[in-house]
Amino acid sequence: VSYFLLAIILFASFVISLLYIFLTAPRRNFQQALLRNELIPYYQPVISAADQKWCGVEVLARWQHPKKGLIMPGQFIGLAERSKLIIPMTKQLMKIVAENLLANINCLPNPFYIGFNIHSSHLQHHDLIDDCKNFLATFPPNTITLTIEIVESHFVESTNNLPTLLNEFHKIGVTVAIDDFGTGYSNFGYLQKYKIDHLKIDRLFVSRICNTPSETHLIETIISLAKKLNMDLIAEGVETIEQLHYLTRQGVEFIQGFLFSKPIPLNEMLVLLTKPMKR
Ligand code: C2E
Ligand code: CA
Ligand code: CA
Ligand code: CA
Repeated sequence: VSYFLLAIILFASFVISLLYIFLTAPRRNFQQALLRNELIPYYQPVISAADQKWCGVEVLARWQHPKKGLIMPGQFIGLAERSKLIIPMTKQLMKIVAENLLANINCLPNPFYIGFNIHSSHLQHHDLIDDCKNFLATFPPNTITLTIEIVESHFVESTNNLPTLLNEFHKIGVTVAIDDFGTGYSNFGYLQKYKIDHLKIDRLFVSRICNTPSETHLIETIISLAKKLNMDLIAEGVETIEQLHYLTRQGVEFIQGFLFSKPIPLNEMLVLLTKPMKR
């Protein structure tokens, strides 16, 4: 009987170990990828609507996998969040972007806007202020505007220390943007309460421009709200000339989308910067 019991225990522990190895494999793979510097920044231009010149970029993560090629964020950001590797990933991206852009600072318009996507867990972390300070300290004074982009629902949910945090960001010269605006909350009361610098209008609303009057009405409401509260607007996912003209007429300050450029790696960005912005 005791041998039988021992065999069962051994077998059970074998199965549990296998399960453990299997379930933790994605996390380990991603951690390895971070160690091997396979997570790289892509840059998507942000254009000023008034004169259609470059003002800066949004940094978007890509996983340059040695076998699978380029992996898009939709396939790894969730994993990075669940396995608590999103903060190390963001820190690493900030470091690479700082090196990339400092080396090419003379090719960039001045000031140059840089937007990073920040996960809510990072907001709870006091390191974030230091990470931003260090990032800015890399560059000569007044050459860079650093913006952190926070998804609307995350922003509203992390409200306990929010006023202090926003104050600290503003003190060190970092601005804050609400990302995917309009998709998360129907109650916009928080906009009046906190000093938020930019709203990014979600692609969903931009794609509905010129469809029907009621669909266009929604984006007009967002725009007039932002104007009243003195916030700058960035329209995301602008793909057509009609959308660009409409948004410009409505007084939206900044434009981002495939009409101007997809997210691109550093070398392509440097080439694009030498030419006038084409649509
Ligand atoms: P997001 O922050 O809303 O970024 C904008 C997404 O829209 C990007 O997708 C971009 O490629 C795409 N896009 C821009 N212009 C157009 C357009 O004209 N048409 C269309 N169809 N799409 C457009 P991407 O790079 O696949 O990123 C997806 C999401 O992954 C991001 O959405 C963001 O939520 C997340 N993400 C990406 N990089 C990071 C990161 O470094 N940290 C965190 N926390 N999240 C990230
Ligand atoms: Ca974003
Ligand atoms: Ca967005
Ligand atoms: Ca989004």
